Amino acid sequence: MNGSGLWHAEQAWLGHRAENVLIEVEGGVIKAITEGVPAPRDAIALKGWTVPGFANVHSHAFQRLLRGEVESGGGDFWEWRDRMYGFAAWDPADYFNHARLVFREMLEAGITAVGEFHYLHRLGNELGLALIDAARQEGIRITLIDACYLRGGLDGRPLGEAQLSFSDGDANRWARRVDELKDADGVRIGAAIHSVRAVDPESMRTVFAYAKARGMPLHIHLAEQPAEVEECMEVEGCTPTELLDREGILDPDLTAVHAIHLSENDLSLLGFYGVQVCSCPTTERDLGDRVGPMRALSELGCQLSLGSDSNAVIDILEEARGLELDQRRATGRRVLHQPEQLLRAATRDGMIALGWQAGALEPGMLADFVTLEQPRGRWRELSPAYLIYGFSGRDVTNVVVGGNTVVDR
Ligand SMILES: [Zn+2]
Repeated sequence: MNGSGLWHAEQAWLGHRAENVLIEVEGGVIKAITEGVPAPRDAIALKGWTVPGFANVHSHAFQRLLRGEVESGGGDFWEWRDRMYGFAAWDPADYFNHARLVFREMLEAGITAVGEFHYLHRLGNELGLALIDAARQEGIRITLIDACYLRGGLDGRPLGEAQLSFSDGDANRWARRVDELKDADGVRIGAAIHSVRAVDPESMRTVFAYAKARGMPLHIHLAEQPAEVEECMEVEGCTPTELLDREGILDPDLTAVHAIHLSENDLSLLGFYGVQVCSCPTTERDLGDRVGPMRALSELGCQLSLGSDSNAVIDILEEARGLELDQRRATGRRVLHQPEQLLRAATRDGMIALGWQAGALEPGMLADFVTLEQPRGRWRELSPAYLIYGFSGRDVTNVVVGGNTVVDR
């Protein structure tokens, strides 16, 4: 991902709307951005709107198989989870091929970096490496967020049959396995505590210290369902967020995924530590999850990002408007987030959560950018509001990752 070249965008988002923008890229990084200049002859013309590449902060590639499978039938989150476990056994070659299709779909929707929250460890690192190889093959940036997963629930109950393949046995063995995974061009290794359900407090501290010592992003599923909060109250006498505080896990490098069922004290803690929060609206809707207090979190200082999670839908613009629109129905209020903030969640703030110096069209940033154009030319002046509410991933016509064109249609 160290391409070089010149691109000329008809309109581009530089934190403000700009026209006739020349983007100079050298070695995969933006070297210069110049507004209001005619296109040089050797520049690639980008018609329509050019914006920073989208960050998909939370994905489970294998769950893409559930699309069209679980939308019928019934049940709740936990019944969905049982069905999802039925799709978790893979051999590396099949997983590589499957992940390539998923990552290609992401690129075509303008996603230039994906965070794979990975816990399929039956074959050690083989499936993680299959994800990395698939990402490199397709040309998408990947942060492999390797999740520690050790137990079946907060009361210490053993892993269920399907969950056995997720576990390394203990946190030290998790760390030794993750040690074998290396950062590379377009590849970052991150860490995850799967959830307060799946990892005991002592092991949480091990994972936290491991990630901290290496400057890795650390992610966790947090408070997606009331049952997790209730069990935590029963066993630990506090909420999941309070438990993380007690164990010293809350930190600005931590991304809490979902963060839906939060008390007032949880909100203040997450805000106080500047924890990042990733919302996954299309999956949360599908699973019957409630709507989290995203506006309050953001006002308290938590940066928001977005993920396609189960990949039943792959469209970060849909996630961005879902973050806002779901809260409208839950609160009876409008415009809880300004469109510019939603665009930042989809780009810069998401890239931060994944550990990438990307997500803005500025010199020094990785050269990831996306061009969108509505069919039949029904587009006008670029604005974050029109982009978030009027476009979808299907309107993407051109994608550049690290100075290499990976989608051109
Ligand atoms: Zn997840």
